[in-house]
Amino acid sequence: MRKEFLPFTKPSISEDDIQAVNNVLRSGWLTNGPQNQELEKALCELSGNKYAVALSSATAAMHLLTKAMELGPGDEVILPSMTWVSMANMVVQSGATPVFCDVDRETLLATPETIAEKITPKTKMILPVHFAGAPFDLDGVRKVAGDIPVVEDAAHAAGTYYKGKHIGSTGTAIFSFHAIKNITTGEGGLFLSDNEKLASDIRAWKFHGIGVDAFDRQNKGRSPQAEVMFPGFKYNLTDICAAIGVSQLKRLEQINAKRRELAMLYRELLANIPEIRPLADPEGYDFTHAWHLFIVRVDSPKLDRNAFMNELKAENIGTGLHFRCCHLQKFYRETYGFTPGVLPATEYNSDHICSLPLFPDMTADDVQDVVDAIKKVLA
Ligand SMILES: *Cc1c(COP(=O)(O)O)cnc(C)c1O
Repeated sequence: MRKEFLPFTKPSISEDDIQAVNNVLRSGWLTNGPQNQELEKALCELSGNKYAVALSSATAAMHLLTKAMELGPGDEVILPSMTWVSMANMVVQSGATPVFCDVDRETLLATPETIAEKITPKTKMILPVHFAGAPFDLDGVRKVAGDIPVVEDAAHAAGTYYKGKHIGSTGTAIFSFHAIKNITTGEGGLFLSDNEKLASDIRAWKFHGIGVDAFDRQNKGRSPQAEVMFPGFKYNLTDICAAIGVSQLKRLEQINAKRRELAMLYRELLANIPEIRPLADPEGYDFTHAWHLFIVRVDSPKLDRNAFMNELKAENIGTGLHFRCCHLQKFYRETYGFTPGVLPATEYNSDHICSLPLFPDMTADDVQDVVDAIKKVLA
């Protein structure tokens, strides 16, 4: 057994990242300023999209989007129940109704079919997830959506490409830079859109509803005379954080190449363990996987998923659960009356998935340790 605990994830922090933070601390300007501008520019360059707004989290981006799109009672937002529950929470906060769709059982991706069956005249937004770093079928989803806005949850998708284009190249996408994501700022998020009005509204909503936010290099801040247009929030990102993201993005290809290498090794070593089934690749379109997570389904008569996670922990192997489905959690059950059985593929996975350790500083030996421990606990 391993001597040292192998966590399920660990951020990849380089000396350059540390130096970037040092530079901000020495610069005399700590909150949103030039590094935010750099981060926004870098995401526009990576994706090819037009407008980016750096924020304190992806959840904040979703909160602001519900405001900017004026979602409220009577409106419906379709999203997979297999998502991080903060996105559903923000829909609820707006007064709109979250309408959970199922996912493909083998990829955890919402599909044009699972989405189409939930569309009603009240649907105001569709929010699928590029899950674990694999893209959902964007063209197919846009086709069934028609005029309904599709917002891409790209929290797992830094470095994900769909049909040759980086996620977020057109339309609206939300990225997260939380500490476990492929690119991190500690905590952080980013709103990306080709809709100028929406992006400028998000920019105002993020900072008290004040019209002007742009860091003015001459004034070192905004004009103190700027007025509140509506009662906004305070979801700006500090430059201390943004600088980490700017530095990390320079290594995105490298970071994801390492993740991919480890994921391929997992696939190879797990291939003849029938009780452990990794997710499948989506089919029918060309894509590049960002390998945010390496998820397997635990299907063993000897031990269930929770026991599997506990026994691996006793072997000094950390694991994660991405995600426990939203619709069967206490608030959602009690508020909307969901009962087991309504979203079969989601519920099967919610009960069986487990994320194995995957981060750029892991080695092939670490992967072997995980697989050895898995064999041991299944024996
Ligand atoms: C992490 C995550 C979010 C939220 O990101 P934060 O920056 O932590 O708010 C949203 N959706 C998905 C699918 C996520 O994994």
